[in-house]
Formats: sequence, structure tokens, C-alpha cells
Amino acid sequence: MLQIKKITFSYQTKPVLRNLNLSIQKGEHVSIIGESGSGKSTLLKLIYGTYDLDEGQIFWGETEILGPKYNLVIGYDFMKYVAQEFELMPFISVAENIGHYLSNFFPEQKEERILELLEVVELTDFAQTKANLLSGGQKQRVALAKALAKDPELILLDEPFSHIDNFKKHQLRRRLFKYLKQKQITCVVATHDKEDVLGYADNIIALHDSRVIATEKPEELYRNPKLPLIAAFFGEYSVIEPYGIIYAHQLQVVDNSDIEVVVANCYFKGDYYLIEANYNENKVYFQHHETLGINDCVFIKETN
Ligand code: ADP
Ligand code: MG
Repeated sequence: MLQIKKITFSYQTKPVLRNLNLSIQKGEHVSIIGESGSGKSTLLKLIYGTYDLDEGQIFWGETEILGPKYNLVIGYDFMKYVAQEFELMPFISVAENIGHYLSNFFPEQKEERILELLEVVELTDFAQTKANLLSGGQKQRVALAKALAKDPELILLDEPFSHIDNFKKHQLRRRLFKYLKQKQITCVVATHDKEDVLGYADNIIALHDSRVIATEKPEELYRNPKLPLIAAFFGEYSVIEPYGIIYAHQLQVVDNSDIEVVVANCYFKGDYYLIEANYNENKVYFQHHETLGINDCVFIKETN
């Protein structure tokens, strides 16, 4: 398992991560969430051994992960890292890129493995296409397949679907995460997209202000987001008495209540309309099944 013990790291003087502890079990899927700049990518890079720690230690089982001061070549055989800015070899084919880490001693097995991986990332038709001719999303899929080629014990994914369009994203995400679970590959995913988390992650780690502010199961964190910052990750929310933090879908329009609001905006969201309204000096957000007129006064309360 992965153990992160009291690590502190700074690029310059101010620590990006401070005294951080974590442990992740073998086969576990963990999401790292946090605002842009909160240190998600830095944490993945530290786990990979990209930089030397200021303080603390990181272990994968018995092996201590060491940075460039102690390792001539960054990285370890048992782990792969797919960066936010992934790199491919531009002038060779998709299949050759994916097979990069695979041995040429067993050409048939290699061929078979590449075909299997092409299927996981849905690029079978592009096997012979040169990497530089691919779109950003296709390149990202090649980078994922390349990282999976030798079934690492641990895979670190930095916003793995950020370049992939919505048409492909949902299915690819299901396939990839199912594959990792089947193979019991431990995975740590940095993301700002709740869709990458809900339904897949076993645990969520939330970073803020160079610290871990929550380590919880998705259900728990979703149902009880102790901070607005965490509610914001999951969706539209308001902070109103007597409810505290409350998601838009947890409020409904009623004939009468203590909370009278003035409609300010109405957004079509497919299954519902998101209503933005003014309540005293604050904005509140709730869902409604039809549009409401701007400046309409309505009463809202928590859904039963
Ligand atoms: P996230 O992935 O959550 O957006 P990062 O880990 O990329 O956050 O960055 C965390 C902080 O470290 C940010 O303030 C960022 O500006 C800074 N940072 C990231 N990479 C470097 C670097 N190579 N040199 C100096 N500062 C960096
Ligand atoms: Mg990042």
C-alpha cells in the first residue's frame, strides 16, 4: 500500500503541501480534489518521485519513493504517471506508442496486448495513425493506454479526461476505471470534475491551503459537505438558515414558508430549471420543474 508520512514540499519558500499524511490501500481508487493551484498535481508528482521532499517520506509497500537527489532516473517500474501535459512520440503510430514499454521478445503477445489496450481506450481504428495527427483527446487516450501497457501496481492520473469530449468521456471513464478495479491496480486521480469521482472513487482526499481538509467516502462527503468549498465541488448550493449548506435539489418551491425569495435568473438544465434568487442580501439556488418569471416572489423550503 501507499503511505505518505508527514510530507512537506515547497517549490520556492512557501510550502505547497504541509505536513501531509495519507495511506491508500492496494486496489483502492482515490480521488484528489481541490481548487486549481491547491497542489493536486504536485502531490501526484511527489508520489511519483519527481521532486525531493523537504520533509517526510513516501512508501509503496516496503519501498521508499525517492526523488532525483537519490535516483538517476525518475520513477519506478511498479508505477505509472499520466501527466496533465502528457507526451507522446509524435512520429510513430498509436500502436507503437502504446507498445513502447512492452518487450519485443514476444511479438505475438505484444501485438495482442496492444489490441486489448486499443479497445480499452477505443482507438482500434487509429492503431496505425501517427501520434502527431491525433486530436488532444485522442492523444490523452493513447497516453492512458501506454501507462496501462505493463499493468502497473499503482497508476497516477492527472485530470485524465480533461481533453476528451463529452461524447466519449462517460464511456471511456467507465471502461478505464472498471479495468483498473478488475486488475486491482491502485489508482490516484487528481480531478476537479465530480463525474470522475462519484460512482468510482472509494475515497476522496480534499486539498486546501496546503493541507488535507477531508478524507472521506464519496457518499459521506457529498451528503455532509462541511465546507462551502466542498459543496461547490458537487454542485450548486446555498448557505441559508436554518439549513446551513444546502444543494439546489434539496430546496423546493412551496405555497408558504419562512423563506421568501425574489427570482433573479432561470437556467434550463435539461431535467430541471436552476433558479437563482435573491434572499435578503444573498443569492440562493434551487431547482424547479418549470421556468419562473424574473422578479417573481416565491417561497422555498427543504424538500421532504
Ligand atoms: P493543482 O494541480 O491543484 O492545480 P499544482 O500542484 O499544479 O496545483 O500547483 C500548486 C501550487 O504550486 C500552485 O501555486 C502553483 O503555482 C505552484 N507550482 C506548480 N508547479 C510549480 C513549479 N514547477 N515551480 C514553481 N511553482 C509551481
Ligand atoms: Mg493540476
